[in-house]
Amino acid sequence: MDFIAETIADLSPSLTLSITSQAKQMREDGIDVCGLAAGEPDFDTPQHIKNAAIDALQDGETKYTAVAGLKALRMGLAKKLKEENQINYEPDEIVVNCGAKHSCFNAIMACCDAGDEVIIPSPYWTSYPEMVNAVGAKPVFAETKQENNWKITAEEFDNAMTGSTKMIIINSPNNPTGAVYTREELAAIGEVAASEDILILSDEIYEKLVYGESKHVSMASISDEIRRLTITINGFSKAYSMTGWRLGYTAAIKEIADAIDTIQSHSTSNPTTFAQFGAIAALTSDQSEIDDMVEEYNIRRQYVLGRLNTIANISTIEPEGAFYFLINIEKTGIKSVNFSEKLLSRMQVATIPGVAFGNDQTIRISYATSLPIIKEGLDRLEEFCRAH
Ligand SMILES: *Cc1c(COP(=O)(O)O)cnc(C)c1O
Repeated sequence: MDFIAETIADLSPSLTLSITSQAKQMREDGIDVCGLAAGEPDFDTPQHIKNAAIDALQDGETKYTAVAGLKALRMGLAKKLKEENQINYEPDEIVVNCGAKHSCFNAIMACCDAGDEVIIPSPYWTSYPEMVNAVGAKPVFAETKQENNWKITAEEFDNAMTGSTKMIIINSPNNPTGAVYTREELAAIGEVAASEDILILSDEIYEKLVYGESKHVSMASISDEIRRLTITINGFSKAYSMTGWRLGYTAAIKEIADAIDTIQSHSTSNPTTFAQFGAIAALTSDQSEIDDMVEEYNIRRQYVLGRLNTIANISTIEPEGAFYFLINIEKTGIKSVNFSEKLLSRMQVATIPGVAFGNDQTIRISYATSLPIIKEGLDRLEEFCRAH
């Protein structure tokens, strides 16, 4: 007898998390590993946010809240979405979840039946396909091109569509590519979605981390018609260095928000109560610490870009957001897992093989770590590439 459900048996565990833990183990064994694999900010959560959660605990905020989260938090999110993202959502169209990963999962579960197709531009964030598989729906990969900065075009989207397409996932700023979609690009994609009533899951978790002239635009802000089809996903992990707090949110038309609320009511119930008080503080307080973090990320980004452009046999796009570089290693003739494993075992540099993102000719490095570690890691990468 098979104990494990068919839909679940074929899922693979998150490759990004397993390599990060392998590198961590090496470090604990006293090996000098340069960790360029991190998928989370290296900054601590700002103190005033921690204080708000501590105060909440002291005040006895230790019981359930509404399934969708505290009303005050959802009101704060509605205000934020209106002012910063130019989208009008009522508080009852917003559900706070246990991390944006959970938000994505709930949204897919709420909307996708077995047999429905979900278009995922590739390279993609590693968890999307398995979330789709987990509910019995079918991931359909749309390959994007490096010369298009790894962004799906409206035409590529149109070509990937079939009669079974239910949803497309757009992630801007993007993990792993760092690409940021312009308003025009989003509008063109939204128009294709609207022509066939396709839902758009818009994962905007990196919205605050954009550099230079780039601007984050929210898909749902493009038009009322596109807003109706869009599930906006965001959270606190990346912007406020709150990965361990597990707080994300979904905003969508009430019908979808209600379905997400129902799923959540039977699974996790509300996200941790005192953590939600930290989130209110994050939203309502001075945002200057974000500016400081973004400035620091940008210094690192420019340093990495300068270095990568001088290393033989690899290429990259200039990432405009998030904190990653997707490096094309095709010219080395080595596939991504082999490349990452050799880089880890021979040079003690931890990276993520692109196969985790659906592209075996790339690796991802992260600059969510200190400049000295980045510098040392790139020195070693350079030496490795010189030998290959
Ligand atoms: C980190 C990440 C998330 C999830 O973040 P949470 O910690 O679950 O809030 C969602 N989408 C992308 C693309 C991410 O990189």
